[in-house]
Amino acid sequence: MSETPNITIPADLLPADGRFGSGPSKVRVEALDDLAATGTSFMGTSHRKPTVKNIVARMQDGMREFFSLPDDWEVIIGNGGATLLWDALSFGFINDRAQHLSFGEFSSKFATCTTAAPHLSDPMVIESEMGARPEMVADASIDVYAYPHNETSTGVFMPVQRPEGASGLVAVDATSAAGGLRWDPADCDMYYFAPQKCFAGDGGLFLALSNPAAVERIESVKASGRWIPAGLDLGTALDNSRKNQTYNTPALATIYLTMHATEWMNEQGGLEWAAARCDAKAAQLYGWAEAHELAEPFVTNPDHRSHVVATIDFDEAVSADTIAEVLSANGIVGTDGYRKLGRNQLRLSLFPAIDPEDTVALTQCIDYVVGELV
Ligand SMILES: *Cc1c(COP(=O)(O)O)cnc(C)c1O
Repeated sequence: MSETPNITIPADLLPADGRFGSGPSKVRVEALDDLAATGTSFMGTSHRKPTVKNIVARMQDGMREFFSLPDDWEVIIGNGGATLLWDALSFGFINDRAQHLSFGEFSSKFATCTTAAPHLSDPMVIESEMGARPEMVADASIDVYAYPHNETSTGVFMPVQRPEGASGLVAVDATSAAGGLRWDPADCDMYYFAPQKCFAGDGGLFLALSNPAAVERIESVKASGRWIPAGLDLGTALDNSRKNQTYNTPALATIYLTMHATEWMNEQGGLEWAAARCDAKAAQLYGWAEAHELAEPFVTNPDHRSHVVATIDFDEAVSADTIAEVLSANGIVGTDGYRKLGRNQLRLSLFPAIDPEDTVALTQCIDYVVGELV
């Protein structure tokens, strides 16, 4: 590896908080302080007792409020994050055949998962090139339509919607979108995520917001007699979630931090506040890239550009990897492009916890580094 150029960014340009990674992402220091302040009363106590169950309930209720969920929706929780939930969905949610929109690393992984599942028919996988997004196609053989609200690897946003004229259920991977992008519960049946991105929590947990049709599907697949590994059983996850518990021991810190971020965002004004904050940062960041001689947004269609994860291409005159290394040496971390895309690119998160002034400072720091490098 070549040496990182020795460039010191002037202190007055630096952001107050240098975490711009797309997951795990910035956890608010206030939340960490409050967690530490629980001292002997929370961490290290039983997840089956009221102390912890009350925090789980506050997290679940906070989600209901934040997303203005209809009363008949469930906040199903379980261990293992979004990736494990894909396996659980392949066992306990897809009847026979899924349709996947595949336009980046995460959406393609779920498609790989259901393709490999021996008990399911091969899915219908609709792909597009990286940096764009494909369209769903209603098809009578499909009982679950699956796509990400935000493809975190490429920074492409996909609106939450149902394919016209389709009867299947719609399951949206909102891992990097939930908390920062608007959606309407009428437009999908399950909206699932892990909380280490917009929700400024930590990894290891999944939350699957589910309407009655989704719950009915979980129950009917279970009743069909299909073998479902106990740890992947969504019916069991549902039963436990209703009791503010998980099937097996969860990471208590993840639950605490997620509860904290949810209540904080609700106090600020909920989803509308968070989404507007992401919109403003996206406008600033993409505007900066468009005006820059050596940079441009990777996603060419402005309507498809994510407002939670921005991907910025750089001219070959400057190495994006080197920019990221110099930023990191100056305490600004997580700006590297997604490796597998193989582009001369930075990927910058715009998650709600990140202060708008810090996004401005980030662009000024990149300008400074680029100025020193070329
Ligand atoms: C990060 C991410 C995942 C994976 O989440 P894990 O909690 O690591 O399993 C899945 N989908 C999307 C869209 C993501 O951004």
